[in-house]
Amino acid sequence: MLHSLRPAAFIVPQALKTTCKCPECEKPFLYGKGVMALGHYRDVETDDVRQGLMCFCSTTCLLQWEHPSMLGLMH
Ligand SMILES: [Zn+2]
Repeated sequence: MLHSLRPAAFIVPQALKTTCKCPECEKPFLYGKGVMALGHYRDVETDDVRQGLMCFCSTTCLLQWEHPSMLGLMH
């Protein structure tokens, strides 16, 4: 986990103004307005559950994306 008093050292400011598509509702939104979280997904080739940093348009979409059994691991 990264800890810094200067988040700009880790996030390129221009990237926050670009658009992306929410993996849950598929609506476009700005990265800077989204919610970053460690998300879980199933690899379609190996059928394994993997995790990665994902960006959602809202907390609601994050909670809808994650399987309930994975939400217990987010404390
Ligand atoms: Zn969404």
